[in-house]
Amino acid sequence: MIKIGVLDLQGDISEHLEMTRKTIMKMNLEAEVLKVKTAKEVAECQGIIISGGESTVIGRLIQENGIDHAIKSNNISVLGTCAGMVLLSEQTDYDQPLLGLIPMKVKRNGFGRQKASFEAELNLKIMNNHYPGVFIRAPYAFQLGSKATPIGKIHDKIIAVAHENYLATSFHPELTEDTRIHEYFIKEVLNCVE
Ligand code: GLN
Repeated sequence: MIKIGVLDLQGDISEHLEMTRKTIMKMNLEAEVLKVKTAKEVAECQGIIISGGESTVIGRLIQENGIDHAIKSNNISVLGTCAGMVLLSEQTDYDQPLLGLIPMKVKRNGFGRQKASFEAELNLKIMNNHYPGVFIRAPYAFQLGSKATPIGKIHDKIIAVAHENYLATSFHPELTEDTRIHEYFIKEVLNCVE
């Protein structure tokens, strides 16, 4: 049975857990969704989700626990939201440990102080209708490598990126009622549905 882990180091883990379970049920899929904390637990999953939170803290814990190695050596698919997007990038405007799995740079808190938190109707390449984006001190991506695909923008700021078996969003899909990002991750990125 497919296993999807929500990385339980810091951040809004329970919302992702709930959202992923809801998505699995909606898709009528046999899958186990669990919290994971150690490299061993991560290595047993086909996909993991890195939540929003403080990317500096999560990144340090990922490194200290050897989770970076577990993800890379087992080719585990990753959905990274907000701080998770920061961690998937190769470079940010801070000095912090990163996974560097998506060739892109990221600007942390990229929407400035006034817009620390906001909601926006998004046009995402992977969906037909608008998607309700929830942004909280969100990053944006820029300077994508040629093989990474930008899947959404606000003006010139890239707010969602797909690359190989990795998906990053600036926004928080787990804080909406809309399961489409999790569905996309499971169906297209994790590739576990016929
Ligand atoms: N600004 C945070 C960071 O870069 C991310 C905020 C969030 O995940 N809501 O770590």
